[in-house]
Amino acid sequence: MFFKNQKLNLLSNQIKICKKCRLWKFRKNAVPGEGPANARLMIIGEAPGASEDESGRPFIGKAGKFLNKLLEKNKIDRKKIFITNVVKCRPPKNRVPEDDEINICAKNYLEKQIELIKPKMILLLGNTAVKTFFASFELSEHHGKIIKTAKRLYAFTYHPSAARFTKIRKKIEKDFENIFELVK
Ligand code: SF4
Repeated sequence: MFFKNQKLNLLSNQIKICKKCRLWKFRKNAVPGEGPANARLMIIGEAPGASEDESGRPFIGKAGKFLNKLLEKNKIDRKKIFITNVVKCRPPKNRVPEDDEINICAKNYLEKQIELIKPKMILLLGNTAVKTFFASFELSEHHGKIIKTAKRLYAFTYHPSAARFTKIRKKIEKDFENIFELVK
């Protein structure tokens, strides 16, 4: 565990000074992610937003507050989850990260975080996160579902920032209920 923590911290330090893709030019702070090295659940979103870029912490803005509510409602302790994004630096004007940015960042950091943490389940939030792992999946078909691979479970729902649309907010709430009911 100590060894895992050290490796995870080392990775976070590398992310904070990374210049491997163009997104470093736009960031105030890179956002490596946070949570325990022995987390059983990992939550992965798209990219840091403005509040995250300011603070260097994941999911602390409006979408993060909604995520907190969803976790509370389903009796999931945020402190026990490792929360991060596919790319660790905020894209300009919150645009969707480009394919090369995703490939570089995920290969260098996200994949290594997963290798170290070895979560039992990964919850993917939003299209970018889903497509990074399952290129052919459509969220409209897979949200609320869980699939089992040789290594772990993957679950899918919309990104909490889409909760500004009432219809999507209701779908996210239902997805969280379904997903956490199934893995209890
Ligand atoms: S997004 Fe990832 S690869 Fe690109 S500069 Fe930031 S940490 Fe490095």
